[in-house]
Amino acid sequence: MNPFTFDQLPSRIVFSPAALTQVGAEVQRLGSERVMLVHDGMTADAADSVAQQLEARLALRWSDVAQHVPVELAERARAAASEHAIDAVVTIGGGSSTGLAKALALSHRMPIVAVPTTYAGSEQTTIYGLTGGQHKQTGKDPIVLPRVVVYDPELTLGLPPGVTGPSAFNALAHSVEALWAPGCNPITSALALEGVRAIAGSLPQTMAHPDDVVARGDLLYGAALSGMALGATAAGLHHKICHVLGGRFNLVHADAHSVILPHALAFNAPVLPQEMARLSEALGVPGQDPAGALWDLAAASNVPTRLADLKGSDGLLQRDQLPGAADAAAAEITVNPRPVTRDDLLGILERAFDGTRP
Ligand code: NAD
Repeated sequence: MNPFTFDQLPSRIVFSPAALTQVGAEVQRLGSERVMLVHDGMTADAADSVAQQLEARLALRWSDVAQHVPVELAERARAAASEHAIDAVVTIGGGSSTGLAKALALSHRMPIVAVPTTYAGSEQTTIYGLTGGQHKQTGKDPIVLPRVVVYDPELTLGLPPGVTGPSAFNALAHSVEALWAPGCNPITSALALEGVRAIAGSLPQTMAHPDDVVARGDLLYGAALSGMALGATAAGLHHKICHVLGGRFNLVHADAHSVILPHALAFNAPVLPQEMARLSEALGVPGQDPAGALWDLAAASNVPTRLADLKGSDGLLQRDQLPGAADAAAAEITVNPRPVTRDDLLGILERAFDGTRP
């Protein structure tokens, strides 16, 4: 077998229906006294429940959250955290809420308790991101890894289909790319393949019956594993393309994942025959092409499959915006199992723009 190293990330997971009721006790365990509660408009009810549990420990509520963590927003939240002498952050919401909590942890060196309500998986990684102008800057710091993650599938029952499907593809992308990303090893591959199995096995049922808490639980479990797989490896070709698209055009992050994943996978597939065979099995289609199977799953789940259908800050994405995105992606991608040129990247973007089945 190939020798490897694996850094296990120090984080506690509480996973259960109604786990939201345990957030107060988890904060108490950490010994935090002045908590900033971060949430967005869609998770305000859950935040109300946590506010009650925190009692006097709640020092500040913050509901100004935006995708990709704009620098100006992070600075405002950081100033408020300083003013209120905050010593911990509880975040309830998707990757945008978790992302703001990470920006706070980074500057104030304090712990995060995360309650994820989408499948983005950010709560399992040491990766943070901040966006200034058209560029999303990412980095890694162990302080931004939540010390406790409270997974409560009941919180995801109201997640609309238009968020559920693409967010599940965001999670799938973490696992799929972890199979070959820098830092991958037998342990990260085990996490990733189980993540793919759990997501592919539960996404169709979740889309058909959004209030099925068992399917939602399986999806959330798969998303947790996928976040762990991403957290223990590194972003590769697929994630770098999505970051460029997100930072440059302010596309909905999860939508970019569902569109790009089949095409990024198809590009790398020829040099990864063993990984593709294991991935096909995990997707439940042994012997078939996993890129095509992912596209089929996306189409069956009604998630976006064409870049041409995605809206950014300036309206629908246009084909003439692709060459600039390919240039930016080429500048960011340094490692890939198959050598990749700027023209290859443009090809991936163009195929994703048209959305044809790979
Ligand atoms: P998001 O947090 O913006 O949530 C998507 C939408 O779902 C929002 O409109 C939100 O209000 C809504 N929502 C969230 N929970 C809900 C609920 N329970 N019920 C109803 N609506 C709900 O987006 P996201 O896709 O979760 O996360 C995307 C962000 O996370 C991006 O900025 C991305 O870069 C980042 N991310 C970071 C990492 C990392 O490791 N650092 C990993 C994945 C994603």
